[in-house]
Amino acid sequence: MKRGVLIVLSGPSGVGKGTVRKALFEESDIDFQYSISMTTRQPRTGEVNGEDYFFVTREEFEAEIADGGMLEYAEYVGNYYGTPKSFIEKTLAAGRDVLLEIDVQGALQVKEKMPEGAYIFLTPPDLGALKERLIGRGTEAMEVIDRRVSAATAEIRMMANYDYAVVNDEVPLAVDRIKDIIKVERLRVNRVLPEYITMIEELEA
Ligand code: 5GP
Repeated sequence: MKRGVLIVLSGPSGVGKGTVRKALFEESDIDFQYSISMTTRQPRTGEVNGEDYFFVTREEFEAEIADGGMLEYAEYVGNYYGTPKSFIEKTLAAGRDVLLEIDVQGALQVKEKMPEGAYIFLTPPDLGALKERLIGRGTEAMEVIDRRVSAATAEIRMMANYDYAVVNDEVPLAVDRIKDIIKVERLRVNRVLPEYITMIEELEA
């Protein structure tokens, strides 16, 4: 059976990955599964356990790491975030596509293990816009914002490790570009070859 496509949506902190991912899921014409991450951070108002994240304690998260259950994990602002391995394996093996929305550290870990995936880097239109978004997000002190902007700058340099760059200027446009990438990825010869080999073998029989 043909394996599903692993799609990794990543990018610097504050670029709007979560918003783009949610908008992508509201589109009904593209079918894939979302890998629900595990985190130790507290749920925000309206977030649902098992939908937005699996919310766990630090002890539970560390036990999962020790059991080898995480495909990747990273610490971000004092909390763990990680991708459970079994769901990805099961879903790809069943021929369904899986999308991960994770930070840059996590994406680079996944790429080491699964280079056959499609790695999409979401970029801000410019660094000034990213800084404004980080300021607009809440109540952080200017010094914290500056630290986040410099972290984001370092993350932007990691773009060279990805396959695709999508600018997040307007969410619906970014969503359309990602949908195009997914459609193209589904047609890559290395993904469809197993089906053709079966056909060729039947012809030869
Ligand atoms: P938030 O707390 O705003 O939901 O997420 C914080 C950051 O963690 C975002 O950049 C988000 O993309 C990233 N993130 C969410 N899930 C995962 C995950 O499973 N692994 C990694 N490495 N990062 C994640």
